[in-house]
This record gives sequence, C-alpha cells and structure tokens, in this order.
Amino acid sequence: MNRTCENGSLRAADAGKKVSLIGWVSKRRNLGSLVFVDLRDRSGIVQVTFDETMAEKVKEVRSEYILSVSGTVQLRKDPNPKLATGEIEVLAEEGTIVNRAETAPITIADDTDTNEDTRLKYRYLDLRRPVLQKNMILRHKVCMIARRVLDEKGFVEIETPILARSTPEGARDYLVPSRIYNGRFWALPQSPQIYKQLLMIAGFEKYFQIARCFRDEDLRADRQPEFTQIDIEMSFGDENTIFATVEDLMKAIFKQTVGYTLEDSFVRIPYAECIRRFGTDKPDLRFGNEIIDLSPIFKDTEFAVFKGVLDNGGVISALKFENAADKYSRKGLDKLQDFVKHGFKAKALAYLKMEKGTLTGSVAKPLSDAEKAAVAEQLCLKDNDLVLIIADKLKIANTALGALRVRLGHELNLINNDEYKFLWVTEFPMFEYSEEEGRWVAAHHPFTAPVEADVDKLFSDPEHVSSRAYDLVLNGYELLSGSIRIHEQDLQEKVFEAIGLTMEKAKERFGFFLDAFRYGTPPHGGVGIGLERLVMVLAGTDNIRDVVAFPTTNSSLDLMSESPNVVDQAQLDILGIEIANKNKE
Ligand code: ASP
Repeated sequence: MNRTCENGSLRAADAGKKVSLIGWVSKRRNLGSLVFVDLRDRSGIVQVTFDETMAEKVKEVRSEYILSVSGTVQLRKDPNPKLATGEIEVLAEEGTIVNRAETAPITIADDTDTNEDTRLKYRYLDLRRPVLQKNMILRHKVCMIARRVLDEKGFVEIETPILARSTPEGARDYLVPSRIYNGRFWALPQSPQIYKQLLMIAGFEKYFQIARCFRDEDLRADRQPEFTQIDIEMSFGDENTIFATVEDLMKAIFKQTVGYTLEDSFVRIPYAECIRRFGTDKPDLRFGNEIIDLSPIFKDTEFAVFKGVLDNGGVISALKFENAADKYSRKGLDKLQDFVKHGFKAKALAYLKMEKGTLTGSVAKPLSDAEKAAVAEQLCLKDNDLVLIIADKLKIANTALGALRVRLGHELNLINNDEYKFLWVTEFPMFEYSEEEGRWVAAHHPFTAPVEADVDKLFSDPEHVSSRAYDLVLNGYELLSGSIRIHEQDLQEKVFEAIGLTMEKAKERFGFFLDAFRYGTPPHGGVGIGLERLVMVLAGTDNIRDVVAFPTTNSSLDLMSESPNVVDQAQLDILGIEIANKNKE
C-alpha cells in the first residue's frame, strides 16, 4: 500500500480524512489497552493510536521498525504544542510491520546524548535525527538558490577536473598516483582557481561551480579535508561588479532560507582599518566596542611601562565596556589577563573602572590626574564603565584586544543572535613573510592583482603592497575570499619574481597557464564562497560536521568506513609504490 501523504504534513484541517502512512517508529508507548506510536518520516512525526482491537498488531513493534498504517485523522483531546502535527492523531485501522530493526546504537533524537564518535561511526542512523535532516535540506536549498540566482544572472555552471594539476592555495595537496604513468601524480584541487581563470581566457565571461575542494591541512576543529565552495569567476568587471553579484546572491539565500532581509549594500572596510578598529580581519559587527588608540594621551607620560612601550614604537590601546565594571571582579579580570597573556602573547592587561566619579583600577595609581582626566574625556566615561588597556606592539595589542572584544561581547550579552552583519574587508596585504621559507609569499594566491598604486613597491617594499583581494565576513566568520586577478603577463611575471619564484620554476608549475595569458586575457576576478560556513551560520551551529552528510573527525578519519585505510599490495605494485615506513602513523 502506498502512502497518501507525508507524516509531518497532517494538520487539524485534515480531521476526518482517511490516510495511509509509512515511516520509522520513533517512540512507542503503552497506555492501558491503547498503544501510541510516533511515526517518523523525513517530513516529521505524527502520533498513531492503536485501540484495543488493533493493539495486538503492534505488540512487537520497537524503535526504528518500519511500519505502514492506514487510518483516520482525528483531533487530539490533549494537543501537543511541541509537534507541528500536535493537534491531531491517526486512529489506526490497519497496521503492517514492513521491516524490523535491531536496537540502534545511538539515540535517534535531536538532543541525543550519544557521543560524537559513536554517532559518526553510525552516521546513517545519526542522519535520521531530524536536526541533521533539516541541515542537509537547508544545504540543498542554498545550492538550489545559488544555481537559480547565478543562472538568472547569466552564469554558466562548468565542471573542472578533480584529477588535476597542483593548484596554488598554499595548503598541502592530496596526491593521486597515476597507474599508467608510474611516478606521476595528480593533485586533488585545493580550488578550481587556475581552471576558472582559464575559462575566462576561453571567453565564458561568467562561470560558477559548486566545487569540491581538497586541502591537506593540519588538524583544526572547524576544517574538513574536503569541503565545498560556490566558486564564481567573471570577466570585464571590477570589485563593484563582483560584490553586487555576491550581495544579490546572499540576499536571496537569506530571504529564502531564514526569511531575513539583508541590508541593501554591505559595508566595506579596508584591511588596515579593520585591524586598527577591531584587531582582526573578521570582525563581528553585531556590536560596537571598537579598539581605541590612547597613545597620544601618553606621549609624555612618566609611567615607565607605558613610556617604554611608546619609546619602542608600540601603542597603548583600549576597549571600553559601558556599565560593566561591577561585572568583573578581581578574579574575573585575572582570567582576562591570562587569556591575553597565554593566548595572544600580550605582556599584560591593565584596567580602569569609573566608580562614583573616580577612576580606580590597576593603573589608576601610576597615571597622573591629567592623564586620567584625558582618558575619561576621550572615552566619555560614565559611572560603572570598564576600560581594558594593553600596552604593546601594535599587532599584539590589537589582536589581543580584538579577541577580548569578542569574549566580552559574549559574556556581556552584547550580541544580538538574530542579526546578520556582513562586511567586505578589502585591500589585504599582497604578501606575508614566511619565517619557515625565509621569503615573502603570496598572502592570497599569486594570481591576485596588486593595487595599482603599489605596483612599484613590489620589490622595494613588499610588506606595504596592498592587493585587490577581499573577504566577505559575516558575524565574525570568513564566508568567502576572492580577488581581482592579474591579467597582464608581465605583471604576473613580476609578482612571481617578488615571491622568489623564478620564471623557470613558474613555467614548470603553471606553464600552460602562463602560455594562455599570451592570447588575450580579459580583466577578471572572482570568489570562492565556503558553502559549509554559510550553511553553518544559517543553521545556527558551530560544528562543521552538522552540515556535512559524511564528515571526518578533526583528525581526518572517517569512523564509519574507516578511511583512510591500507590497500592491497597488488594495488600498490600496479602503481609502482612502495611504503617506506610501514609503521609510521
Ligand atoms: N580560490 C580562492 C580560494 O579558494 C577563491 C578565489 O580567489 O576565488 O580561496
């Protein structure tokens, strides 16, 4: 017998209807002569009632059995407001056990208490939990909206190779050995970067792909070795064209999934300003409390600690939290002190509190009255305000204060969890110095264009070359990165040279790409949107595994299929591979 409707779809208006349902038994309760079964399918749960004439049929039914039922929808005497179908129940007239199930090794319910490793081992059961089903459907919706919006805007979806040449995102590659060409390897793409740029050279103008990317990175809680990007590239535009496309896409996604209307155009803040104001390149803009530079107040200070820092080119930076002084006791402040010292290498955390018109706190004594008055004036201090101060090198002070800002934002409930605040961070540094390699490396990837005014600093002052790379940040998460690319061959060669990549080496790695540049490369740029991040924010989870159907653990293991795993010697032989150290973990 086929079902006539989905379990989760029934409402009070259906009372009196005859229905046939099928699903998993989520719960079974005996109440005297009555048996109640919660029958679950993808759409939800409905209560089925078996009266004394029918109870026999479901006597042996247990959780996760598959049951098919026919009956009549009726209004419940005691509605259950927690359930979408809570106003009704189905009075069973027929019931058949379609399949039996062993006792599940995990609790199949939204608030399961089973530990995550067990859930990952039995992921197919874990995925029966409504919350995970909801997340996967949300992910599907986001992809569908992206496809629709980008298609309407004239983008073409094109697949690029998974067995590919090594790409330049800066992480380690996953390698795949070739059987036919022993000793040669493919690299799984870290992103489709080179291919999408080649598609611009090929004349497609607007490309997108929901692309699987692979990065063999060190263990991090919020990373998976493979992840998905909504990858976009477009020709004949600049940052404005790309930002407008992404903003339209985000507006459609947020409206159609969580019903949220995003602001018309997103804020843009250059990287350097961002670091100065928030101490991070991914600030959470749902609250203020920006970093304030107090250095000018102390330029002639006699307080030795501040003086020493300023004489060494450091800064005195501060955060102000209104009406928070009484919320941080000595002990609470000690914890903050530990946080900045151990987490961010700051030498110390000083504080001031405005108490009944007087400034008290760890540096109240050594500061002069004039200095304290100046601080109170600059920060417009009122009673019970708390000021946290770090005197250190700019980067250390602001990074630590940036992290403190977020911590206190949470602790003091300054963040509205129902809000989505986007911002573009622009003009990222072009290069960063790699201590490990002893040279400047591309901060984004080496195809990113430098800001035009900085081109002549490529060799003389690489540290201060800004690039046309940008990130889109949402509520403190980096949602995407991208850039305007270099489209002139000689500039590309110069950038390679600036990162110590000889033309010979560059040709060896990306020769085909450099060749392509010679045949009329259009100005172009693009983005890679982290799909998992986006879905995580929409789903309100901070666990990336909650939005991936078959994720790995933090240590890149798939506990269900037990991969990676050893392979037969014969398979290795055919690939010409010998394992040098079999015991190496
Ligand atoms: N390929 C870049 C990345 O994965 C994104 C881009 O520049 O379009 O970060």
